[in-house]
Amino acid sequence: MARTLRILDQDPEARPKVFTSDYVGRFRAGQQIDDLPVSLDAWRVTTGDPDVAAAVAERFGGSPQEWQTSKEDNLEVLTTANSVRVIIDNADAVSFRMALYGATGKPIHLCDGVEFVGDDDPRRGQPCGCPATLVERKAAEKAGYGPKPDIRVVFRLADDAALGKFRMMTGSWSFMKELETVWADLDSVGGPALCELRLELVEFTTKKGVDVSFRKPAIKVVGRAPENTDAPLLSLSQAGDEPPF
Ligand SMILES: [Zn+2]
Repeated sequence: MARTLRILDQDPEARPKVFTSDYVGRFRAGQQIDDLPVSLDAWRVTTGDPDVAAAVAERFGGSPQEWQTSKEDNLEVLTTANSVRVIIDNADAVSFRMALYGATGKPIHLCDGVEFVGDDDPRRGQPCGCPATLVERKAAEKAGYGPKPDIRVVFRLADDAALGKFRMMTGSWSFMKELETVWADLDSVGGPALCELRLELVEFTTKKGVDVSFRKPAIKVVGRAPENTDAPLLSLSQAGDEPPF
């Protein structure tokens, strides 16, 4: 039996909430409206911790509200910020794999594009059978039988690092194409790096003449994070005048 305070047994609502996740919240580029995914102009942050929600709203705008989810991050803040300053510890904090999820919500195909990589997949290390070109991979994803990028970025807020670790997950193919640059820039810094996490506007006209616009996540590595992350940071424009690494 876990040792408990009888005082809090009498008033369980007063007991501090224990969160099982390693992360205090998630930055999201979209939301579901009437079951349809909608991309957003500014970051949407979800968390289960009212203190984190309040801190995010104070820094980035918006106000905490509840949203429908079966997960523990039941609070969301629709911020007005499309660029936030974050600290990424190293290149390992930006992970990539290709994933296809099955009806049970569990991944049924996890690969690096060439071989299976799932930890408990008996096929781990064997060729996964995905096609070679991005065009064919995207077609397979669209048809529902091929995996898509599963990119995860773990970071702290540069202006409030003590708040804890957040993460951002994306399935963006165009973000995937930029990963090699991001990894190289993070390796050049060689330690915790100050970065801009942005939602970038992408606009183009299709061959059929349809105007398309959406936002995609982007990371710009600015330079080394200050040693004492609780200390005030240079403003971004000042930091931009310095050599990047
Ligand atoms: Zn594969």
